[in-house]
Amino acid sequence: YTAKRKGSGVVVYDPAIDRSSQESLSLLSELRRALERDEFMLYLQPKLDLPSGEVFGAEALVRWLHPDKGFIGPDNFIPFAETTGFIRMLTICMMEKVASLSAQLQRQGIALKFSVNLSTRDLLDQELPGAFAAIVERHGLTPAALCLEITESAIMDDPARAQNTLDRLAAMGFALSIDDFGTGYSSLAYLKRLPVRELKIDKSFVMKMAQDQDDAKIVRSTIDLGHNLGLRVVAEGVESEEVWFLLRQMGCDQGQGYFMGKPMPVERFLEWLQQWRAPEALDQSENMAV
Ligand code: C2E
Ligand code: MG
Ligand code: MG
Ligand code: MG
Repeated sequence: YTAKRKGSGVVVYDPAIDRSSQESLSLLSELRRALERDEFMLYLQPKLDLPSGEVFGAEALVRWLHPDKGFIGPDNFIPFAETTGFIRMLTICMMEKVASLSAQLQRQGIALKFSVNLSTRDLLDQELPGAFAAIVERHGLTPAALCLEITESAIMDDPARAQNTLDRLAAMGFALSIDDFGTGYSSLAYLKRLPVRELKIDKSFVMKMAQDQDDAKIVRSTIDLGHNLGLRVVAEGVESEEVWFLLRQMGCDQGQGYFMGKPMPVERFLEWLQQWRAPEALDQSENMAV
């Protein structure tokens, strides 16, 4: 038997296809159950101002704490969540957690900016901006306290519709950022028209930039491109002190990476905040060398 839907409308049974759709169904019901049981954990990775070393905020990254399988990273379920439409629930869940934390910290006098990742499908979701507005308002926040990260490839999937959603979110006051920049194929014509404030250089260029001359050149010219367009430029994937100082020398505005802090649960992030010190010693030798 073959798995073809014939012109007659008769569907021929195919065990392989049947099994995969069974698996999809059970994964989807697991995701729904995970949402009910609050198994999606908010992890935060610090985002720092490069000239000063001060903490600017943090990016929200989801982790699924599965009762049997332990921690599951986003790359293992976000693509599936996107194909089913479950992603909307997940995006709203993350926004809710971030808004709640942001409001709580504001009451304690800690003003940090948090970023939330949107996926391709979120950009086509006409109801998402309204849902975000309701969450932000309920927590007494202004949208400007939050940043939404959209990958370059998600935007280029359907640039016209992406532009529409992004225009709405920007008009509401959310800060917008282009994530994983350099890995998609964005035309500069689109980039110029988008209401974004920030450009994040993909970590694949940043991680090896101290050893790889080409990567270093790509990072340097991306920083210049971003600045020429009036954008803040952030480097993700800063894994060493050497890269931290290279980026500073190149005039990069902000950095994020394992060198400063890995993604961590909220309590640990708050401890990290207390003990973070910018690498000062090297700072002085750097100045002396110039
Ligand atoms: P992203 O938004 O580009 O996030 C940065 C990823 O790079 C994170 O992986 C982070 O852990 C990793 N990273 C940060 N610094 C370093 C470093 O110095 N070295 C290395 N090797 N890696 C570093 P993570 O947490 O596994 O997330 C992967 C992707 O999954 C994210 O990429 C984002 O696209 C997506 N994602 C994560 N959380 C969410 C979410 O809540 N919603 C949506 N829609 N997507 C999410
Ligand atoms: Mg991101
Ligand atoms: Mg990224
Ligand atoms: Mg990524």
